[in-house]
Amino acid sequence: MKLYNTLSGKKEEFAPHGDEVKIYVCGVTPYDDAHIGHAMSYVIFDVIRRYLKFRDFKVKYVQNVTDIDDKIIDRANQRDIPPAELAKKYTDSYFEDMDALNIEPADVYPRATGEIPKIIEVIQGLIDKGFAYPAGGSVYFRVRKDPDYGKLSHRSLDDMMSAEGAMGSEEKEDPMDFALWKASKPGEPFWESPWGEGRPGWHIECSAMSLKYLGEQIDIHGGGQDLIFPHHENEIAQSESFTGKKPFAKYWLHNGLLQFGEDKMSKSLGNLVTIKQALAKYSPDAIRIFILNSHYRSPLKYSEEGFEAAEKAVERLLRAVSRDDPGGGEAFDAESYRKQFIEAMDDDFNTARALGILFELASAINQAGDAGLSISNAQRTLTSLGQEVLGLKFQTRFKVSYATSRTVSTEASHVAATSRTAITEEVAARVKRLVEERLNCREEKNWQRADEIRKKLAELGVTLEDVKTGTDVTYKSVPSEESLDSLLKELGITL
Ligand SMILES: [Zn+2]
Repeated sequence: MKLYNTLSGKKEEFAPHGDEVKIYVCGVTPYDDAHIGHAMSYVIFDVIRRYLKFRDFKVKYVQNVTDIDDKIIDRANQRDIPPAELAKKYTDSYFEDMDALNIEPADVYPRATGEIPKIIEVIQGLIDKGFAYPAGGSVYFRVRKDPDYGKLSHRSLDDMMSAEGAMGSEEKEDPMDFALWKASKPGEPFWESPWGEGRPGWHIECSAMSLKYLGEQIDIHGGGQDLIFPHHENEIAQSESFTGKKPFAKYWLHNGLLQFGEDKMSKSLGNLVTIKQALAKYSPDAIRIFILNSHYRSPLKYSEEGFEAAEKAVERLLRAVSRDDPGGGEAFDAESYRKQFIEAMDDDFNTARALGILFELASAINQAGDAGLSISNAQRTLTSLGQEVLGLKFQTRFKVSYATSRTVSTEASHVAATSRTAITEEVAARVKRLVEERLNCREEKNWQRADEIRKKLAELGVTLEDVKTGTDVTYKSVPSEESLDSLLKELGITL
């Protein structure tokens, strides 16, 4: 397996330090809802982690939450709420989004505010070794003391200084020095430290947390390309100066950034699309396919057409996965597709090529099925590669047909739905009850209420379509039992 290492600037053979692959990926600063750019990064690292597990590596994955930061303090002040309350709200929102996108939770999600003792320990160690100095209640890292500084972004200090326009200050010995600990301003949250009341800088958090949860040397460090400098450069400087061990991370993996037209998607440009907004329009599988359909190191252009095409692609895969096996005949062998899929993923996680192979396999399954070959083994291959490695759910837009007569056939189709998808019996029973109620309304010509039920269900991701034989129900996403209960209550319907 080969992966591209930003540190060396080339593809390298993957050889982890030990039995367990240790991965650290920089997490969010929760001051607002996460956007599609975040989805891109975390879907990519989710797939990388899934693939390593698929290739039988044991993996430990740590991702931080920067729950104290200037942006959080500013936003909390605007809303007149405590920064901790704001951070909690958007951390919860972030976890909801990750869950909806089928991203496996990290093994540990350390929060900056929960790791202050470890952060202080690392800063003190850096001061003791002469790599850092306290000044005016803050502590700074002495960049010129580290001869390796710049090895990740491949730039010299003087280069960076002119490019970044480093800010000097009376406190700092050198304009390039960066803060490890920031003295608190009046009214800001603070923690006690040997240097006075203050809070940790952003860069030191990641060094302290990966040290604490993954040890002195890790295998893979990930993040967006916008984090290479200064964030990751600073993490290397801190971690390697503190432990004296190199490299801090063996492989540095960086994903390309999401573009909106010609611009980067960012809050300040006002072109943000949040994950929640995208999920209201597209299925989680479509969002994952949209992201994985280009190489992770390339920039990805946001486009509605791209998402719509991904949605169609999901349906193509679903049709192949769920069509009936004619059985009986000779079995269609999908092993060559599986091999090609692995080859693509082994080549620096080429998900676009791997996805292409799944689409070819889907077409081949359809052809084989039409020709009367047995396809269930090939379907299993397609399902397992899609689910296990690419994190697709294959459960969205699952159709359940309700007969107008509302008798046995309703039961039968819902049993099929629950056994093949993540739609629980509880959810199915509630949706079924709502569909029945709507059919009653239509019989009584109460169009307004019938329409209301359809609209409310659509808001929960369940669309109803009237067909000759009854109602087709499509799950774009699977609503929670609680949300359906409150809808039933709102409409005065008992289960
Ligand atoms: Zn970081």
